[in-house]
Amino acid sequence: MDVFSAPQFRDDDAARQFLEGILWPDGPVCPHCGVINHAYATKRAGVFRCAEKECRKDFTVTQKTVMERSHIALHKWVQAFVLMTASKKGFSAAQLSRMLDIHYQSAWFMAHRIRECMRSGGLAPLGGEGKIVEADETYYGNVEKAHRRTRRTDGRPFTKSGKASNKRPIVSLVERGGNVRSFHVPVASKAEVSKIVRENIAQESRLHTDESTLYPDVGDLFSAHKTVKHTAGEYVRYDDGEAVHTNSAEGCFSIFKRGMRGAYQHCKEKHLHRYLAEFDFRYNHRIRLGFNDGERAALAVKSAAGKRLTYRLTH
Ligand SMILES: [Zn+2]
Repeated sequence: MDVFSAPQFRDDDAARQFLEGILWPDGPVCPHCGVINHAYATKRAGVFRCAEKECRKDFTVTQKTVMERSHIALHKWVQAFVLMTASKKGFSAAQLSRMLDIHYQSAWFMAHRIRECMRSGGLAPLGGEGKIVEADETYYGNVEKAHRRTRRTDGRPFTKSGKASNKRPIVSLVERGGNVRSFHVPVASKAEVSKIVRENIAQESRLHTDESTLYPDVGDLFSAHKTVKHTAGEYVRYDDGEAVHTNSAEGCFSIFKRGMRGAYQHCKEKHLHRYLAEFDFRYNHRIRLGFNDGERAALAVKSAAGKRLTYRLTH
């Protein structure tokens, strides 16, 4: 693949220097004591020794990151970061395994770790004065058979439009022309959905939803709450020159569902929030918001520190 002609994709030393450039913009950071740029290079490539009197420990750029103790070559990690963050519909472990010529199991681990890097941490509310935020929910049904429950933990059946269902509800909030934030909820009840809407959208925002009964109460908290009547076939309505719709949220759902159908055949319910985070990350760093493939990958790499996952595979 031509895009992988740069040295960091082909050579381990170059990959390490590339990661150092992203993770240590101000000089080496000792993961043991946290000191910045107070270390010296040792004779071993990539190994630094902390110069703090109380510390003096050795470290590398991958220590205490998702790449720690991985047997996969660093240049393959760098490729994986780009593949996972660039591909709009996602990139499966099977594809990753073929592309990088590594075992499926290793690819599966890498994919989950990179996905973890794409999860955003503590977040400011979406929207703000004069901004529109859409809220909408959907149902995602590709939950592995073995993990299906026909009853909720409270004993009542899962329902969708009153019918028992194994599908899991997803709630997405999208700032018009901006970012998305998606949630997997146990049940799309008024209490669950209201809590998400209240905690993640600035109250100065203008809320757009469909006519679902989930939203009128929480809608009162915002500077405006406007609805479209999907049941009446209405998908956009103009109100005082404002286009009222939830098409951005619908668009996110459709990218997510197509990606999950194409790239990810199986998704255990406990991992669903991670897949949502992966799709949210790519949407929030899309080309239209000014991000290119390299910048998107670098942002994921940046959060590789402090997000070490140790998965145990049971199969
Ligand atoms: Zn130190």
